[in-house]
Amino acid sequence: MTVTTGTLYIISAPSGAGKTSLVKALLDAQPQVRVSVSHTTRPARPGEVDGVNYHFVSREDFIERLGRDEFLEHAEVFGNLYGTSQRWLEETLKEGYDLILEIDWQGAQQVRKQMPLARSIFILPPTQEALRQRLTNRGQDSDDVIDGRMREAVSEMSHYVEYDYLVINDDFAHALGDLQAIFRASQLRQGPQQKRHTQLLSELLA
Ligand code: 5GP
Repeated sequence: MTVTTGTLYIISAPSGAGKTSLVKALLDAQPQVRVSVSHTTRPARPGEVDGVNYHFVSREDFIERLGRDEFLEHAEVFGNLYGTSQRWLEETLKEGYDLILEIDWQGAQQVRKQMPLARSIFILPPTQEALRQRLTNRGQDSDDVIDGRMREAVSEMSHYVEYDYLVINDDFAHALGDLQAIFRASQLRQGPQQKRHTQLLSELLA
């Protein structure tokens, strides 16, 4: 594999904005992109697989890892702890993959401080009503839980100004195209292109 240094992307969105489906479609189309699997103390939802969606760990385990400084960032969201493994992230970027962190605004702030070259993307729903509809359609939560998640969503969305890019997920295909454009443009930057095409460039300049 050509050795390039990958780009780190932070993707945040309120629950129900469609982030997970968009990231999945993006990964299907872009083989050089990897997504970080976070550690969390939240219980697995139906259909979620340990090691694929998250590394599901106990609170004690998480706190021990925190003590060993294993996380690049961590945050408490909806009463559960979430964190990104630093070692896996560094190794994956070194291998030349672009890497996505699907994390909340608190984690995004911590990552920006430590990795200022990270690009951040915020995915927004087209309307509040559409967001509520999407949360309701999941059918997993009661009205009270959905009201709480709507309040959390508004609070999460208030951080959009901290992000480099905003993608509105009104139409799925359009939003996916927007995301792909962000990744493509970044891959075409002179630095990564130079590393990818060293031979061509030296031949062109011979
Ligand atoms: P969920 O439990 O619905 O999968 O995720 C809840 C929230 O936690 C989402 O906003 C998600 O982006 C965020 N989250 C997931 N993993 C991490 C992580 O490793 N760090 C941080 N800071 N937030 C995370």
